[in-house]
Amino acid sequence: MYFTVKPKNRYIEVKAKGNEGIVTFPTFIPGSYVIREMERNIVEINGIRISKNKFYVKDKFSYLIYAASPDQREAISTNDYLFINPPAVFPFQDKSDEYCVELLITWKINTTLKRKGNVFCADNYNEFADSPIEASPNLKLLDVDDNHAVSTIDEINIEKISKIVNIADSIMGIENKGKRYLFHFRRSDKNYGGIEHLNSSAIVIPWEAKEIERIFAHEYFHRLNVKQLIPADLNIDYETETYSELLWFAEGFTDYMSWQIVSRSNVVEPKDVAKGIANSLQTLTFPGSKRMSLAESSRTTWIKYYKRDANFLNSAISYYDGGLALALYVDMELNGKGERIDILFKKLERKYTAEQIFSTIRRLGVDIEDLVYSPAYEIIRTLEDINIVEIIDKGKDYIGFSLDDNKVIFVEDQSPADVAGIFPMDQIISVNGSKLLNFDQENDVYFIREGRIKFTKIFQGKSPGHSVKVKLDKVFPRSEAISEAKVI
Ligand SMILES: [Zn+2]
Repeated sequence: MYFTVKPKNRYIEVKAKGNEGIVTFPTFIPGSYVIREMERNIVEINGIRISKNKFYVKDKFSYLIYAASPDQREAISTNDYLFINPPAVFPFQDKSDEYCVELLITWKINTTLKRKGNVFCADNYNEFADSPIEASPNLKLLDVDDNHAVSTIDEINIEKISKIVNIADSIMGIENKGKRYLFHFRRSDKNYGGIEHLNSSAIVIPWEAKEIERIFAHEYFHRLNVKQLIPADLNIDYETETYSELLWFAEGFTDYMSWQIVSRSNVVEPKDVAKGIANSLQTLTFPGSKRMSLAESSRTTWIKYYKRDANFLNSAISYYDGGLALALYVDMELNGKGERIDILFKKLERKYTAEQIFSTIRRLGVDIEDLVYSPAYEIIRTLEDINIVEIIDKGKDYIGFSLDDNKVIFVEDQSPADVAGIFPMDQIISVNGSKLLNFDQENDVYFIREGRIKFTKIFQGKSPGHSVKVKLDKVFPRSEAISEAKVI
């Protein structure tokens, strides 16, 4: 198919050429497990609607699509900036055809699509969908080295990115010589996140965010894990939810490796590495970790992780945090045997299954199968057993909720706050007559719920333990920290 794109303020006007017949707009973006219904952004199309995301069209047709998303997985078009993640804007017919896009702008354009004059092409839709396009009169292409560059309208410390890429390449040990890799990077006040592609990644980070290096390391490591080593059960067809039980490996192990990369390249302080890891492990101390395994967390991502609500920590776990914890365990154990986790990525098959991961690790002398299918709290218990994790607030005074200012954002199951009838979104007005919200043994609590003033008594209890102290010396030099506990 051939698309001619005219960016406008908030909209993208597309003229398309294909075959008379059906075109399909993706309903979700690969790499992110939520049905986004991107086709909802079509505001005009000269075709006959067949379903929510399919149209019958002539060989030439046009459409107008709303593009105002700050999300790196979607598309935005302003009077001086354009970012397109192709599946958010372009439909497909035969996915094995060549797909090309021509941009009717004079701005600088950065993309990993193949350039043919003013036209950018991919051999098939999968490659096309995996190659974002960024354009702006202010766009820069900052070379990291011969093969890596950052595309951005903002400022960035290229030296740090260079260190990350060097260390990551040495760990990945894959042959990427001569292949270009592009980081699309933008600051924002609205969004935080990254998404991986084979030859690029798109990263959007708030202005105040400090953790910028790690997200680069995470997305870059995906170049190997997910893009070249692929979970065998992750079959993407752009319309149907796909269920993988391996996201703890695809995402969690990648997260762990991102900490390794920033640590080994010295771009993040050891104490900040340890704090980040402690914060992840802390999320596995809540009731959800006694209810859900890593495999289950992965399979349910469409309805749990990507639909996180105020009860998430009671009902589920994140396969990022759980997978990271398991990778930490694997690395610690391998370290005891004179090996490192790096070796695992050299031994896996291109399309890996859970069984292959287990047997590969087993051959190195470590068994993780039970830890993947048991409630994830087992991993924390195991890390406690080998003395790298200590839960330091077990049995301390506690109420059992988290606050954002005075608004309740989490109520732990069976905690004193739960027993007293506190609900997420309640606004605490006073505790024992004071606005300071300091809790005692026995507390008179006034709060607002749905506009009504209410009263309850909360009796302090004993914490099941959420504050995690980590000592990671063997695998992260000089790394010791305590998680930033938020449960009162
Ligand atoms: Zn990721």
